[in-house]
Amino acid sequence: MANKEIPYKIYLEESEMPKYWYNLRADMINKPAPLLDPKTRKPMTAEDLAPVFCDELVKQELDDTTAYYEIPQEILDFYKMYRPAPLVRAYCLEKKLQTPAKIYYKYEGGNTSGSHKLNSAIAQAYYAKKQGLKGVTTETGAGQWGTALAMACAYLDLECKVYMVKVSYEQKPFRREVMRTYGASVTPSPSMETEVGKKILAEHPGTTGSLGCAISEAVEVATKTPGYRYVLGSVLNQVMLHQSVIGLEAKAAMDKYGVKPDIIIGCAGGGSNLGGLIAPFMGEKIKGNADYRFIAVEPATCPSFTRGKYAYDYCDTGMVCPLSKMYTLGSGFIPAGTHSGGLRYHGMNSTLSQLYDDGLMEAVSVPQTEVFAAAEEFARVEGILPAPESSHAIKVAIDEALKCKETGEEKTILFGLTGTGYFDMMAYEKFHDGKMVDYIPTEEELQKGFSYLPKMD
Ligand SMILES: *Cc1c(COP(=O)(O)O)cnc(C)c1O
Repeated sequence: MANKEIPYKIYLEESEMPKYWYNLRADMINKPAPLLDPKTRKPMTAEDLAPVFCDELVKQELDDTTAYYEIPQEILDFYKMYRPAPLVRAYCLEKKLQTPAKIYYKYEGGNTSGSHKLNSAIAQAYYAKKQGLKGVTTETGAGQWGTALAMACAYLDLECKVYMVKVSYEQKPFRREVMRTYGASVTPSPSMETEVGKKILAEHPGTTGSLGCAISEAVEVATKTPGYRYVLGSVLNQVMLHQSVIGLEAKAAMDKYGVKPDIIIGCAGGGSNLGGLIAPFMGEKIKGNADYRFIAVEPATCPSFTRGKYAYDYCDTGMVCPLSKMYTLGSGFIPAGTHSGGLRYHGMNSTLSQLYDDGLMEAVSVPQTEVFAAAEEFARVEGILPAPESSHAIKVAIDEALKCKETGEEKTILFGLTGTGYFDMMAYEKFHDGKMVDYIPTEEELQKGFSYLPKMD
């Protein structure tokens, strides 16, 4: 098969599609550290998590021994609406760069929500429905996750309450209206609907909100409303498990043509898309069956891996969620000036954090003007208008391809193209008008963020 000509797009047949999600933790030698109760500092049990999350999702969250989870038929049926996602051989980009490298990308933007987040949204909504719940709550920043969840809930006839950071609610009305089209209720956060929202508004009248605050509101409503639970779009290991469908499909498509990537690149916000893309490849590397280079790409404004600390930290600003051991900038760290809303999170998925700490994965941070320049170069030759988040991976894929041009090496590069950028045209506008600035936090600002880390022992 190895000599077969590689088509521009590789699609899997229905019979070749993954039927299982892969739980990478089962094959890790050093397991990620457990979630801790923020008050007692003891590992969280299923009973501790049950009031907040759906039972089956709690089981998945705490499970670091079961390697494969059968994907329920109802979820496979939903996946059929927009999967398989194509694996594209970037012939046009290769030609433009004049590189001997072979570039592939896994494109997850081909659904209405415009990103990979739908892969986990449908799974989380499915388990909520199966448990007989009435609805779910969540937070959203720029709106990608809220949109994906609204679509999944509409499909399963589940209520969906989204707390949207107020500044985005006001400045990004389009995503808000997509969510409402799919039947979700969207509330600007902080709101007067919750105790925590009232408290924050009393202390900071006129605040435009933050993701951390919206999380606290969504969790409060989930725990106080009968028949409701809270769901989260990234960071957690259950989300990475669902996102393994990205990597499994990509690997199956490459295997079909006898292609083996040398370098695998993804952008890292909370880490779920990158974790999902690399999962089956990393599993092989850990077992010693193959070797790959993995590169996480993050914005220079929010450099959790490259400048953060590996420590237990709060997952939210309100400090109500469990403590997770991860690469973090501190839950009080507020990243300035990045137009990649999906990459603004202070911490990182705990599994990826462990892999990075074990030296199994690399990370780089890139300034946003270079990211948008790469996005534009990519759009002009490959046609797809990429999301700013995804363009972090494009930037580093191009850098690696240009290195191959210098050395003459014919490396095979795979990167994750997580979504489209149609709702990010204000950011593109700034870039085109030369008004985009690169903000890199000072050492002092980082130290301030670290001062929020909980004192352990
Ligand atoms: C949310 C989002 C990301 C970040 O994904 P994580 O899985 O949290 O790292 C990347 N790209 C797009 C398009 C997104 O919407």
